[in-house]
Amino acid sequence: MRPYAPMIRVRTRSPDNTRELAASLAEQAQAGDLLLLVGDLGAGKTTFTQGFAAALGISEPVTSPTFTLAREYRGRLLLHHLDVFRLDQISEVLDLGLPELLDSDGVILIEWGDAIRQALPSDYLEIALTFVEGRPSPPDERVVVLTPVGSRWQARVDELTTLTEPWLESPPC
Ligand code: ADP
Ligand code: MG
Repeated sequence: MRPYAPMIRVRTRSPDNTRELAASLAEQAQAGDLLLLVGDLGAGKTTFTQGFAAALGISEPVTSPTFTLAREYRGRLLLHHLDVFRLDQISEVLDLGLPELLDSDGVILIEWGDAIRQALPSDYLEIALTFVEGRPSPPDERVVVLTPVGSRWQARVDELTTLTEPWLESPPC
């Protein structure tokens, strides 16, 4: 069973604002963390990864790994950036051995991670980015929903709640 804790819903107002949110998650990141990045093309999954990587002290530019499947960056932790946009990549992703990548001082961020949800380790933080509805829709705003899955992440709900506070959506007028 994979218990779900309550999700946390926040909003970012620019690409940099999404990078800052990611950076604050990266500051608290621990070896063994698995983050699933979910959202349509252009939602901000790679942008999020860039902010996360920078906060781990990675200075290399982070680009979408769509055609390379996985990239590895050395920072405070070893960041594995994966992308399973093409469904035929799923078996290749599984061949990488996610538990092994998480073993030493690795963290994994998987774009389109929901496509392989069934094959994932039981603990992960799902981060869903969505465009904001509205007329005209604000092009630089994203709703970001964090769902802690499994006991590892449930134990960190308070921490997540505190660190995401600056991005809480203002209550409706
Ligand atoms: P994905 O990896 O989900 O396909 P990218 O991160 O590559 O998406 O692209 C997101 C695009 O949306 C970028 O061009 C980025 O500048 C833009 N953008 C606009 N507002 C935001 C926001 N609030 N958060 C993230 N990206 C945003
Ligand atoms: Mg991408």
